[in-house]
Amino acid sequence: MSALATTTTTNNAEEAKPKLSEPIVRRLWAMAHRVVEPRSLGWALRKWSAFNECVVAYELREKRIALTIDDVPSEVGLMERMLDVLCEHGVRATLFVVEEFAAEPERREVLRRALAQGHELANHLVRDESPANYSPAEFSEALERCDRLIASLDPGWSEHRPKWYRPPHGFMNEYMKGHLKEKGYVAALADVFPLDTEVRSVDWLVDFVKSHVKPGSIVLLHAPDVRDAKNGKHHKRQNNIQVLQQLIPDLKAMGFEISTLTDLHHAFHRTQQEDQLELLANPLEDADDDRDDVDALVTLPDDDLGDVPVNADSNHRTSALL
Ligand SMILES: [Zn+2]
Repeated sequence: MSALATTTTTNNAEEAKPKLSEPIVRRLWAMAHRVVEPRSLGWALRKWSAFNECVVAYELREKRIALTIDDVPSEVGLMERMLDVLCEHGVRATLFVVEEFAAEPERREVLRRALAQGHELANHLVRDESPANYSPAEFSEALERCDRLIASLDPGWSEHRPKWYRPPHGFMNEYMKGHLKEKGYVAALADVFPLDTEVRSVDWLVDFVKSHVKPGSIVLLHAPDVRDAKNGKHHKRQNNIQVLQQLIPDLKAMGFEISTLTDLHHAFHRTQQEDQLELLANPLEDADDDRDDVDALVTLPDDDLGDVPVNADSNHRTSALL
């Protein structure tokens, strides 16, 4: 039987409990970030071929970041509350859809509302599980199933370039990399993940994001309630609605513009074009004084997938990080 055969989940599934106590998890996560920031880790991961076309963050001067929410859609009422908060603050986000979570028509309706509100949908396969054991055929089928769902909701989907994919559980391999590229996808990881899958404290989650966010960051949060494909357990993350309620005004007060991944991607391209025009206007007289600026001038990217920054020469610091 295919690993993707439909599973049944029950509404009264047992609530999942975090494996470690929360204070320990928080301390370990903060400590790990003191040792190495995910952006620097991104540079290291570039050496690992399966990941070398993923995006972790963009190098940007402008204080713009992307808000991404995984494991969408949740239970309808909670999703609507989350969308209300985003709407109230005028924020558009990238929502990574798990195809099986949108089985009920009411949930697909919530996704339509999200699109109408200006959010973009993106591919997070069929289930909230690691695809590490998927055969190539199973991976292709899972990508395609979620792609078909999004196409049925978003009339502009087939023209969308790049289409965004978030690897469930961060798993990538060579086959996935090649197949994603062929299908017009770019895999996006994130450089600011407050571990909201384990931590419930709203204040801690808000502070974590605020203290790690930088221009060009990709912030990852999760939908308010998630069912585990393996054991049907419920991960209740309603606290994330409150996190967004507190976090968005704080980030704005810090001067950050919050946008979708596509907007962040375009902002990066715009900056590249401006830098290139500036170089043409002021040829290299002061190049030796400022090697960084020279390094920043890589090939002028267009809007087609072939020129997305992830494909830029990895020696250039303007390439999107890992
Ligand atoms: Zn997920």
